[in-house]
Amino acid sequence: MNKEKIWLSSPHMGGTEQDYIKQAFDKNWIAPLGPNVNGFEEDLKKYLSLNSTPFRGAGGVAALSSGTAALHLALILLGVKPGDEVLCQSMTFAASANPIAYLGAIPVFIDSERDTLNLSPIHLEEAIKDRISKGKTPKAIIAVHLYGMPYKVEEIQNISKKYNIPVIEDSAEALGSSYKGQKCGTFGDLGVLSFNGNKIITTSGGGALVTRNDANKQKAVFLATQARDDAPHYQHSEIGYNYRLSNICAGIGRGQMEILDKHVALRRKMNEFYKNLFASIPGIEVFNEPNEDYFCNNWLSVISVDKSQTNGISREDLRLFLEKENIECRPLWKPMHMQPVFSGTAFYGSGVAEEFFENGLCLPSGSNLTDDDRERIASSVKNCFKS
Ligand SMILES: *Cc1c(COP(=O)(O)O)cnc(C)c1O
Repeated sequence: MNKEKIWLSSPHMGGTEQDYIKQAFDKNWIAPLGPNVNGFEEDLKKYLSLNSTPFRGAGGVAALSSGTAALHLALILLGVKPGDEVLCQSMTFAASANPIAYLGAIPVFIDSERDTLNLSPIHLEEAIKDRISKGKTPKAIIAVHLYGMPYKVEEIQNISKKYNIPVIEDSAEALGSSYKGQKCGTFGDLGVLSFNGNKIITTSGGGALVTRNDANKQKAVFLATQARDDAPHYQHSEIGYNYRLSNICAGIGRGQMEILDKHVALRRKMNEFYKNLFASIPGIEVFNEPNEDYFCNNWLSVISVDKSQTNGISREDLRLFLEKENIECRPLWKPMHMQPVFSGTAFYGSGVAEEFFENGLCLPSGSNLTDDDRERIASSVKNCFKS
């Protein structure tokens, strides 16, 4: 039996990536600037429709070395300072929250709701009211489209407007997703994308900041290139960072943009595969778009296991069974308020993120999985629930 590893999500090249890299080598554009960087930013702008409403031609994209760098710069652009409080979705990858700590600011974590697994509008507003009553108006809201599922865009926007607190939209997992036809990455005051190795497209490592105006894009690029003043010598009036994407990595990104929609379609097919597979297994829910306003790139397919309906087979039993078959699965992100590094941090919620962390499982979801892989996954899952 073929026991080669089936990965959760692995890089999937389209074929033209090396052409862009070859051009970079031929012209000696190896530095963190050059035609691929500009081209990749233009590709992203076009894909996100930044030239049409609601941006009316004003939006910008800054290609950066990582999504984490984009989050860090987003917080700086919003003026977050040491001691400020920043509201952040608790159930997420640590990279959503770490940049708050880089700045000496204080994270306040918020629970998820059940429809999208993302920021709960109820607990978000509860937290804002409580922090304001304690004399500390939060400086920003970090909202995440987890596993590519859009968060409750309108509810979050309304709260943001009501209390005048800007939203950083962590769309690291949601390139290719949309809400009511508008692309994820374009809803926040600032948007964050990631092109890390396991994301829906990859530059081997990279990210981008999506801005609503050109001034913020220019400021992000300025900060990402060591904040050099306009002078013939090296002069600095601000602290800068080395956060720009290289022209080589941007070349991979240009090739990947050509196949992005194809890969979204393939990941959505994986999600269909799981819906069919689990339809006949009681106690397993395949996580799904709440209604047709939501379009999910299905970066990762997620299930939750109710062991009261599976003859006692838990999420962890299933994960370990599949691991023995060399099929990689992973629990959902461990909520930040449960992480040792953030112990003692304020949290507003009612146990939803904790419950999904306990019962949820991410399944192999890559756009490069084969029919053979799917057959192996299906027979292993069936065997687990037979035993
Ligand atoms: C991957 C990811 C990031 C960070 O992106 P990097 O490019 O890996 O720095 C941030 N937030 C979320 C939700 C992510 O999944």
